[in-house]
Amino acid sequence: MKIFSTIKEIKHWRGQSNQETISLVPTMGSLHSAHGYLIEQAQAQSDVTVVYIFANPLQFGKNEDFDNYPTNQPGSLEKDLEFCKQKNVDIVFAPSLEEIYPNGIENITKVKPNPKLANCLCGLSRPGHFAGVLTVLLKFFSFIQPHKAFFGEKDYQQFLLVKQMVQDFNLNLEIIPIPIKRESSGLALSSRNQYLSDEQKQKSAEIYATLQKAAALIQNGKDIDEILKSLSKNYFEYFEARNNINLEKTKERPLRLFVAAKIGKARLIDNLFVE
Ligand code: AMP
Repeated sequence: MKIFSTIKEIKHWRGQSNQETISLVPTMGSLHSAHGYLIEQAQAQSDVTVVYIFANPLQFGKNEDFDNYPTNQPGSLEKDLEFCKQKNVDIVFAPSLEEIYPNGIENITKVKPNPKLANCLCGLSRPGHFAGVLTVLLKFFSFIQPHKAFFGEKDYQQFLLVKQMVQDFNLNLEIIPIPIKRESSGLALSSRNQYLSDEQKQKSAEIYATLQKAAALIQNGKDIDEILKSLSKNYFEYFEARNNINLEKTKERPLRLFVAAKIGKARLIDNLFVE
């Protein structure tokens, strides 16, 4: 496994690897088995798999958990590198903050996400979040020039926004969605699950259970607004039914249910497709 930490190194490598299909798995580190699953899917569909590990400050709000994010704790990179080695990853790109943002994050050019997709769901409570996500991805896409990039459906709004950016900027890149990986309780795997106590973990399992209950009621023809209202919990930030492609609010199936919930220190998101 090759490990690069500078843009110069990864560009040099890329310049010499013209023939192969290159897959990219973007991550913010603190890797868990959902990341492992993305890596396996990438490996199955390409000759070379690149994993990048970079906790991107540009996508965190001022009062969010950047400093405490698990990747920013001592020893995290070593664990992530071992994880990638066990998974037979070909290349890990793990640059420093200074490498990616040599002039800081205030005075730089940013991508403005499609407002129709960005100004709802997580975009409402996290202003600037998706601009930060797309900006860093565009940078990494330009250094690495992958043929395919893999994104988890846990961050479904992010997946749609990335796909839209690739289309709008005519990037030569296929964006591939990967289904959500869950714990046996149904809780979607997330680096932020580390913030949860055992009791909070139990409570967090209610998120997926609620999505499933709502999906069953919708399939039985019950009124969606009433279902969402009656099943919503006081710790949900949003619980909405939206079109699977354009994210407009809808009552028509197929649709996707979206939840964000705050449990203890963790802000958790989940979603479920309803045919
Ligand atoms: P992160 O490191 O949290 O930014 O996640 C990196 C990638 O892994 C993103 O594309 C996420 O959507 C994906 N991912 C994280 N958790 C899950 C999960 N439980 N199931 C599927 N994909 C996930």
